[in-house]
Amino acid sequence: MSLRVAIVGSGPAGIYTAEALMKQATGPVEVDVLERLPTPYGLVRYGVAPDHTSIKSIADYLRRVLELPNVRFLGGVELGRDVTVADLTACYDAVVYCTGAMVDRHLGIPGENLPGSVAATDFVNWYCGHPDMPADRFVLDSPEVAVIGVGNVAVDVVRVLAKTAEELRATDVPEEVLTRLADSQVKVVHMIGRRGPEHAKFTLKELRELGELVNADVCVRPEEAVADVTEVSRQVRGNVEVLQHWAAREPVGRPRRLDVRFWLRPVEILGEGRVEALKLERTRLVEGRVTGTGEFEVLPVGMVLRSVGYQSVPLPGVPFSESTMTVPNEAGRVRDREYVAGWLKRGPTGVIGTNKSDAAETVRTLLADLAGREPVRHANLDDVLAARGVSPVTYRQWLSIEAAEAALARSLGRGERVKLLGLAAMRTAAGR
Ligand code: NAP
Repeated sequence: MSLRVAIVGSGPAGIYTAEALMKQATGPVEVDVLERLPTPYGLVRYGVAPDHTSIKSIADYLRRVLELPNVRFLGGVELGRDVTVADLTACYDAVVYCTGAMVDRHLGIPGENLPGSVAATDFVNWYCGHPDMPADRFVLDSPEVAVIGVGNVAVDVVRVLAKTAEELRATDVPEEVLTRLADSQVKVVHMIGRRGPEHAKFTLKELRELGELVNADVCVRPEEAVADVTEVSRQVRGNVEVLQHWAAREPVGRPRRLDVRFWLRPVEILGEGRVEALKLERTRLVEGRVTGTGEFEVLPVGMVLRSVGYQSVPLPGVPFSESTMTVPNEAGRVRDREYVAGWLKRGPTGVIGTNKSDAAETVRTLLADLAGREPVRHANLDDVLAARGVSPVTYRQWLSIEAAEAALARSLGRGERVKLLGLAAMRTAAGR
């Protein structure tokens, strides 16, 4: 009899978990990958920037896992809405939660709720065509925009804001979003770090890419590029060298400007009825802590995008720690026959590949726990779903969505794929 495992979430962590199960198990295993959206691949589809095609091609690897004979994709099935933890533990020998980190962290400053103050994750979802984000969610009508945070997500966001729509035409950005990017009034993008260049979280490859922008001058203030690099990694030294190189050159008059700023923390978002400015305070480190100096600066921005990290959300019926914002676990084990992998397990850190070793650890724990145990299955998820009138999106139907996206790209004379926007369009493409 096969070991039957349900994986909740079809992003990289979920699919690497399915792969690890197939590789590590000594006996037969059947895996169902449940996904709330009709589409698989999670952040690879809705988080990786559209112009990062080589990272996006990880989907080709994940696809091969979903196409393994003992792996099934069940789209449009949400834990808490369509199925409960009790359903899953009744139908499977084990359940692995891999729902990632779906929301943004907050700044906790006055004015954060003004219209125009938004999560970078929303903006990322928007240009990636996430079905939760309508095309009219963003109007880029402000000449100046601030992005808070200096991690790789911030770098993605400022790059998309700095590029022309023409530069993004060959990507899979939904056509409706591309039109709005073409109408963008943005001229100046400020990317703001609350510490120094040596503390920035972006990686060297991603930083260098900003220097290749043809539509924007990248500007760094020499006084903010000063950094102590005596005890830093090669990566960090590289970041600082690139920033100092930019600080030493003059802008050449490109249509847009990207100001990379350091030692400034946001203290208030100002505006009557919508964002009109951002107040920043200069900082320094006191015993390793970011401390305000009492010196302020106000930027006349019409939009503030906070890019200060993702965070996981609790799953109904699954333990969750509000202090770490993760599911408490021991090497992936949550409770008897319940496991966790990916960002939900360790927090939103690392690159996509980090989830592979993370998933492998969880699967080692799972297989060791279940070794020699009698199967505990009583119910069949297909029956449970059918009784509730839930008909999952099949892998074949997902392929129809992909085919419709390729056809749309051809009809528009764009690249390999143009994302369909909204669940209704996907449903139609899937023939549902
Ligand atoms: P991140 O790397 O953790 O960066 C978050 C940034 O926000 C840091 O600069 C942090 O500064 C800043 N921050 C946090 N709280 C703040 C506050 N209250 N005020 C001002 N600044 C604040 O997060 P991320 O950019 O969301 O990336 C998440 C993960 O995805 C990372 O592992 C990243 O490498 C990965 N990713 C990779 C790629 C790629 O490989 N191309 C693309 C996108 C994302 P402090 O350091 O001072 O806290």
